[in-house]
Amino acid sequence: MEWFDVHGRHLPWRPDEDPYRIWLMVVMLQQTRVETVLPYYERFVMTFPTLPELAAADDEAVLAAWKGLGYYRRARNLLAGAREMAASYNGRVPEAPEALERLPGVGRYTAAAVASIAFDAPAAAVDGNVLRFLSRFFAETGDIGNAKVRARLETLAASLLPASGRGLHNQAAMDFGALVCAPVPHCDTCPFSGACAAFSQGIQADLPKKTGKTAPLTEHHLVARIRDDSGRTLLHRRPATGLLANFWELPNVVQAEDPAAAFLSAGLNLEILAELGEVRHVFTHRLWVLHVVSARLIRQPADFSRYQWCADPHEATLPRAFSKILELD
Ligand code: SF4
Repeated sequence: MEWFDVHGRHLPWRPDEDPYRIWLMVVMLQQTRVETVLPYYERFVMTFPTLPELAAADDEAVLAAWKGLGYYRRARNLLAGAREMAASYNGRVPEAPEALERLPGVGRYTAAAVASIAFDAPAAAVDGNVLRFLSRFFAETGDIGNAKVRARLETLAASLLPASGRGLHNQAAMDFGALVCAPVPHCDTCPFSGACAAFSQGIQADLPKKTGKTAPLTEHHLVARIRDDSGRTLLHRRPATGLLANFWELPNVVQAEDPAAAFLSAGLNLEILAELGEVRHVFTHRLWVLHVVSARLIRQPADFSRYQWCADPHEATLPRAFSKILELD
């Protein structure tokens, strides 16, 4: 805590902060850096200042407020969670980690972080940074991808919780893992070096042990930037299930040698005009390589129900992979 007072990343919470805002921030911080999150957080709470206001919002408004943060599944889960809290918890964030864990998109870590920060609940929030720190401090040489090893480290984390101020303790441990016991550890400035088992054995660079990490799957797609005579862009709504479900996108197909034939077999009769470039986008386990062409629609598809012409696609809530393409203009 002494280290955290001086070096910690203090988030914009007052001691009596609304648990809704804490839940929102913890969800936003999943997979996204603090500096990136802060302006989005401010904008989101201006739009939806309270949990009941979020619960009453429609999907499009919430996705628009989330636009730019990526990982849109988090926004959908947030809205579903708010609706569930409105229906089952009187419009309030439940205090028990077990109840939080039953909300959509809330795992063990998020439940513990929210419960400890908002309600001082005795729950250890063990993210990747804390796991790394603890595995080194206790010289845990087992694979942290193994459930038993992970459970062992989570039990150790719980045993270190103080009698009060658990939320700050959890934040301190996470920040310490992120900033000092980082992937390349800063042992020379670490206040724990005298007690750290990995450091005393000189094995800190080898920990934590993690095997079985799979490389992201690479997928190549052809994407068409189709404009009509008045400059409008054709958008397509993605399927109702799977990755980026129901989002608007630029029409695309799996890459093929003959782009016009590939689009035709997907129901779009196009004249390919020019190659515009290549855009790459990384998801958690997937890399999309998008080969972009400009094109003209020769004939409108018989079923146009999942298409629309859009005067300004910059204003549409396109996933980041596709809004990057607009930057090719
Ligand atoms: S001494 Fe090094 S390995 Fe051990 S806790 Fe500190 S930074 Fe991490």
